[in-house]
Order: sequence, then C-alpha cells, then structure tokens
Amino acid sequence: MNTKPQNTFEPTSRTTVKRSATRGIYDRDDIDKILDEALVCHVGFVDEAQPVVIPTIHVRMGDNIYIHGSHASRMIKCLLSGEPACLTVTLVDGLVLARSVFHHSMNYRSVVIFGQAFDVPDIEKKREISHALMDHVVPGRWAEARQPSENELAATAFIGLPLDECSAKARTGPPVDDDADYQLDVWAGVIPMSLSAGVPMDDDKLRAGIVAPEYANQYRRVQIK
Ligand SMILES: Cc1cc2nc3c(=O)[nH]c(=O)nc-3n(C[C@H](O)[C@H](O)[C@H](O)COP(=O)(O)OP(=O)(O)OC[C@H]3O[C@@H](n4cnc5c(N)ncnc54)[C@H](O)[C@@H]3O)c2cc1C
Repeated sequence: MNTKPQNTFEPTSRTTVKRSATRGIYDRDDIDKILDEALVCHVGFVDEAQPVVIPTIHVRMGDNIYIHGSHASRMIKCLLSGEPACLTVTLVDGLVLARSVFHHSMNYRSVVIFGQAFDVPDIEKKREISHALMDHVVPGRWAEARQPSENELAATAFIGLPLDECSAKARTGPPVDDDADYQLDVWAGVIPMSLSAGVPMDDDKLRAGIVAPEYANQYRRVQIK
C-alpha cells in the first residue's frame, strides 16, 4: 500500500505512467480536483475471467471514493467478494487538430485508481455518503429533496475504494506535428470542450406553481484546473 509523503502518491509498478511519462501526475490536490469535477467514473473488475467496465456515479470524501448500487448488482457483488478494482475518471478539455491525421489528439485530465473495495454497512455513514453524492452531482439538491429513508439506505449497497494507489495524466496545449507538416495549408489548433448544462425542463407531473430552483437554472460543472 502506498504512503502519501508530502501529499503526493508514490508511483507503484501499477501506476507508473509509461508513454508520454511527463504527462503523469501524482500530486494529491491535482488528483482530487479531477475526481471532484468528474460526474461519472468507470469501474473495472474481472468477473469469472471476464473483464468488465461499468460506468457509475462516484464521490470523493477525504481519502476514499464511494459508489453505490443495488445489492443485486454484479459490480457491487464482485467488488465486495474481494475482486481487485480499477476506477477511472476522464475529463475531455479539447479536441486537438493537427496538420496530419496521425498527430490528432485530445486535451484531457484523467485518473486511474487501483484498490480493494470495502463495504459500508452503517446506516448513518450511508446517509452521509448519500448526501455527499447528491452534493457532488447537484450542489443544493440535498436540502430540498425528500431525505432517504432507513429502508432505502438499507436496501442500497455503499462501497468505498481507498485513494492509495493512484495516478493522473493530463494533456494540454496545441497539436504537435512533424516539422515538415508545419508548411501544409491545413488548419490546426484546439477545439476547447467542456460539459455544459441546458435549460431545465419541468417534469410533466410537476405540481402547479413550482418553478425550477436557482441551482438548476444556474447549473454548471465547475472546472477546477
Ligand atoms: C481522452 C483520452 C484519449 C486518449 N486516447 C488515446 C489513444 O487514442 N491511444 C492511446 O494509446 N492512448 C490514448 N490515451 C492515453 C491512454 O489513457 C494511456 O495513457 C496510454 O494508452 C498509455 O499507455 P501505456 O502503455 O504507456 O501505459 P499503461 O501500461 O496502460 O499504464 C500504466 C499506468 O499508468 C497510469 N496511466 C496510464 N494512462 C493513464 C491515464 N490516461 N490517466 C491516469 N493514469 C494513467 C495508470 O496507473 C496505468 O496503470 C488517451 C487518454 C485519454 C484520457
């Protein structure tokens, strides 16, 4: 298991970024920012020799990432049976258009975490994680929506993954072309990309007189670079 001297993850044999190694990041704050901005993670595990990667929602609370799901979900069952897990998040910041097809790329920030998941059976801890998940996705929503009942929390599995063995990788900047290609009459540059919210749409069954709250009208995914 890794230690975190000076708030930095020590690269392990599993987390050492190899290609474009200078893009590797092990700084704890940088990794936290990527995890906190991302809406979706992908959880990888092996089920009966079959690699599986499942998208889901995550939240970081301190030194752990939490996800939740039905006790019947294969992902939850596999992770709680002790299968090693790999969780990733990816933020796409730009499409990098080079002069040659081969050198096209993307600007991105991504995180890879390896670890062993642990169960969170305690109802109050589940409530706390539930609150954090809600805040992570829609800040302000927890205070307005009906709170989860004990039955709802008991029926849902919450599992954690320690932030022990992590790497991040980021690409920034313009395309990198072969020297000769800079003479080509081809546009090159970056198309910036970010996740943006549309205008909230009322539910058909909304009771009369209820209007979309400010946090919905103003929703934006805060970019923490
Ligand atoms: C949006 C996006 C598009 C990409 N497109 C391509 C592509 O088309 N082709 C391609 O080869 N690569 C692409 N990459 C990079 C890819 O994620 C790997 O970094 C790359 O395959 C290098 O693999 P490797 O064999 O050097 O390292 P690996 O042996 O695969 O990785 C070693 C370790 O380095 C760390 N690591 C590697 N990549 C990342 C990462 N992205 N984020 C955090 N930690 C990482 C992990 O801990 C991993 O276990 C893309 C990445 C992103 C985010």
